[in-house]
Amino acid sequence: MTPPALRVVMVDPRSLFCPSCRRPVLMLTVGQAAERLGLSRRTLYRWVERARVHAIKPADAPLHLCWSSVLRWVTHGQRREPPADPRLAQVVEAIHTLYADPRLTLTRLSRQVHLSVSALSRRFKAEMGVGFRDYRRTLRLRRAEQLLSQSSLSIKQVALSVGYRHVGDFCRHFQQTYGFTPSTYRRMVTQVAQTAGESEPVHPQGSKTV
Ligand SMILES: [Zn+2]
Repeated sequence: MTPPALRVVMVDPRSLFCPSCRRPVLMLTVGQAAERLGLSRRTLYRWVERARVHAIKPADAPLHLCWSSVLRWVTHGQRREPPADPRLAQVVEAIHTLYADPRLTLTRLSRQVHLSVSALSRRFKAEMGVGFRDYRRTLRLRRAEQLLSQSSLSIKQVALSVGYRHVGDFCRHFQQTYGFTPSTYRRMVTQVAQTAGESEPVHPQGSKTV
């Protein structure tokens, strides 16, 4: 089976919009993305070759990855089937169901599956490629991204409804992850929506990205 061709789009390097997502995203070089995830560059390049993530080659700049698509792949696409270890499968299932519950902790999950916190933490990272906290945070922030762009909930309401107890933590994590504060993100999304409404229809699903 031949992988789909790498989709390379020339954009203004200052642009913070992924042409595939049509949303404001953080663009990272392969090295930066690899470092954030604690994975090798080789792994990231493999995802690019297989069109698992959105790759962009700005003029006169190195290959950049759409961080949003990377997070999506790490938490969803990569998980083609549940982990073989039934206890780990149960944990992953629980995270996807309960991520918006502020009481969802590794300690609580470890009790449910009768493993020590450290054993579960180790197995989780080995199987999923990212640690429990990063995984949970990614799910929360991705849901927040949706709420910011599709609802009129306040920033605080968004924070609480995705499992944060403190809006300050939420804003900090959001900015670390996406490169914008939640309010800037919302403003940019709104602007993009308005601009798109004025120009021809956009077909963001045109790429073969999974
Ligand atoms: Zn993208």
